[in-house]
Amino acid sequence: MKAKITVVGAGNVGATIAMRIAEKELGDVILIDVLDGIPQGKALDMYEAAPIEMHDCAILGYTSDYEASKESDIVIVTAGVARKPGMSRDDLLTTNMKIVEEVSENIKRHCPESIVIVVSNPLDAMCHVVKDVTDFPKQRIMGMAGILDSARFRLFISMELNVSVENIQALVLGGHGDTMVPLPRFSTVSGIPITEFISKDRIDALIDRTRKGGAEIVGYLKTGSAYYAPSAAAVEMAEAILKDKKKIVPCSAYLEGEYGIEGLFVGVPVKLGKGGIEEIIQIPLNEEEMSELKKSADAVKRLVDDMKRLKG
Ligand code: NAD
Repeated sequence: MKAKITVVGAGNVGATIAMRIAEKELGDVILIDVLDGIPQGKALDMYEAAPIEMHDCAILGYTSDYEASKESDIVIVTAGVARKPGMSRDDLLTTNMKIVEEVSENIKRHCPESIVIVVSNPLDAMCHVVKDVTDFPKQRIMGMAGILDSARFRLFISMELNVSVENIQALVLGGHGDTMVPLPRFSTVSGIPITEFISKDRIDALIDRTRKGGAEIVGYLKTGSAYYAPSAAAVEMAEAILKDKKKIVPCSAYLEGEYGIEGLFVGVPVKLGKGGIEEIIQIPLNEEEMSELKKSADAVKRLVDDMKRLKG
């Protein structure tokens, strides 16, 4: 049977996710937004490409009608506002918290068995909102950030060395923000650590560019934030789940003691399969890496505490 994927938010990220899902023939797509006409128009336009792209996946748009999302296997949450120049992801907290709360109530009501992939920012904090409202098991809630941040790091390494991106593996852990933790020790070119090829100064420069990767795009676009690479990353997660690939990728996952972190969503390597997050992979971090991860987790904790205060 064909899978059903609901994408909430028909903006830049959501619509591009919908298109990628259909073009990869992963399943039928329901695209939901609060706006009238936008989800319907974008969905129909993308659906009309089906005879050219040669896929048989429906893409249907709806305005706040979650009845259409019933029995979705996966719900991808992209609803909310995006960054403008000068804003950090954390500046989106108050607005997006309310939006993701409302979306989560609908997911709980209409798609109680679904796996939820969160994209809205601030990413790790929004995963907490979904968990608080839906009370879904931790295996079925995850945030997209690590795959995107790692892809940026991988691209910058491949550009630096003039080698194929296919040869580059890299790992970025931590919260999706300025404190994210790129790990050069676990980043390789055909299995050889990048530290064998690139000087420390240059690695530091690539790490800095990775940390500021989102802001670099916002700086160019001015009216919004990145969406081509983010949509590709979210779809990689959906594909790993739908095809039960047992793929190991960095995602924001709810930690209960792993890496010494308790009760927080933070980016770590996980195994993705049909059950969602089937395993949290614990890699041996050295003292400096561990302390950076802890700093990043503290930044997520501050946002979670801010949300508690906002709710009163
Ligand atoms: P966008 O403004 O293009 O689209 C957001 C859409 O959400 C809009 O169409 C809006 O009408 C809709 N929306 C608002 N409230 C809604 C609600 N209650 N229900 C349903 N839809 C609602 O923004 P975008 O560029 O698509 O980005 C979406 C979100 O994803 C932002 O919060 C952005 O910061 C985040 N993002 C995260 C990552 C990541 O790595 N995790 C990467 C890129 C973007």
